[in-house]
Amino acid sequence: MAQPTFSTHVGMVDILPDEVGKWQALERIIHEEAKKFNFEEIRTPIMEQTELIARGVGQLTDIVSKEMFAFERGDDQYVLRPECTAPVARAFVEHHLEQRGGTQNLYYIGPMFRAEKPQKGRQRQFHQFGAEIIGADDPAADVDIITLMMSIYDRVGISNTSLKINSVGDPASRKAYTKALKDYFRPHLDEMSDISRERFEKNPLRILDSKEEEDQPFIENAPVITDFLTEETEAHYARVKELLKELEIPFEEDPYLVRGLDYYTRTAFELISPDLGAQDALGGGGRYDLLIEEVGGQHTPAVGFAAGMERLFIACDELDINLVEEEMLDVYIVTLGDEARKWGINHLPKLRKAGLSASMDYIGRSIKAQMKDADRENARHVIIVGGNELAEGKFTLRNMKASEEDSYSFDEILNKLTN
Ligand code: AMP
Repeated sequence: MAQPTFSTHVGMVDILPDEVGKWQALERIIHEEAKKFNFEEIRTPIMEQTELIARGVGQLTDIVSKEMFAFERGDDQYVLRPECTAPVARAFVEHHLEQRGGTQNLYYIGPMFRAEKPQKGRQRQFHQFGAEIIGADDPAADVDIITLMMSIYDRVGISNTSLKINSVGDPASRKAYTKALKDYFRPHLDEMSDISRERFEKNPLRILDSKEEEDQPFIENAPVITDFLTEETEAHYARVKELLKELEIPFEEDPYLVRGLDYYTRTAFELISPDLGAQDALGGGGRYDLLIEEVGGQHTPAVGFAAGMERLFIACDELDINLVEEEMLDVYIVTLGDEARKWGINHLPKLRKAGLSASMDYIGRSIKAQMKDADRENARHVIIVGGNELAEGKFTLRNMKASEEDSYSFDEILNKLTN
């Protein structure tokens, strides 16, 4: 085969017709579960102002400092959104969604963009589904978010996951912890990575997120944030754990779980799958009580999760889970000759109006080729139309699975297929 002239960008992939069924099936599950939990869908643009993402996600995160697809047009600076929580927070503030009353329980599905090094489970355009509860401080909201996330994996059939949780503290706990971390890392800085030395100055908490080998021995023995939580934050975290236990959702505490985004406060969690290899996080999230204020709103506590759809499919492949139901075409009209073709073109809309999926040949293939096509399309029934059938007003209806056929008028066929 000739080399194609164009191809997708590195780390960006086409979702081809043979694969799209599982995407639609997953999207259906997400919509259905979200509805059960009383969440409403929100759709925000693919592009956002650079400043929103920089402020929302955090200047020092890898996402903002290294992985943004950014460009300018006139005086405006845009980025392709790397995640959707900051955009949802922007939409909440911009459209005064708090005026709708109560908490805003929102969910989204869509493509995100990060200029990461592509590998299995890591793309430059990837897809997330996620949900946010904006306006609730209560630990019950944290647990509702976790439960919604888990219920989607349950529906899919991925159950061998582990839920890791931590509390990353409120600003007061973070301040005390940051000081303790700096005191701990300071004497070892010479032996640590450049990136950790940089983080030491700007955001020492993120040293814990380091994947550099030379940092690991120091991270292993670092102080843990849970020893620095204020009374209030500790009580909140304790209640989250209590509720998880009451709901019989197993979890593991991981005191070094800080996650890659700066906006998290208090609860942080990640859902890990043993079936994913190096990129083992299916999804994650937490509280972001300061984000709404950071993007220009009133102080509004909030909690959410985001999960990767490609990684969910990798786990499905490992577990032999097939989300796709066999697609069937209800009717394929096989025609012989111009008059029959005309009849077919006229009758296709009638079949479709009656709620049936229907198709025919448009490129003048032989009857044999049309029958083969009907088979490839997984047709339940074929209507065969030729000169004799037109003259008699009776058409052959063939049941492809049972390999049976008989002659009927079109009205009789419609009746048979819709009842
Ligand atoms: P994050 O927004 O970084 O918390 O990511 C949440 C989830 O999105 C991760 O657990 C992954 O499942 C997925 N994800 C994040 N980045 C990528 C990527 N570059 N490629 C594929 N999936 C990703």
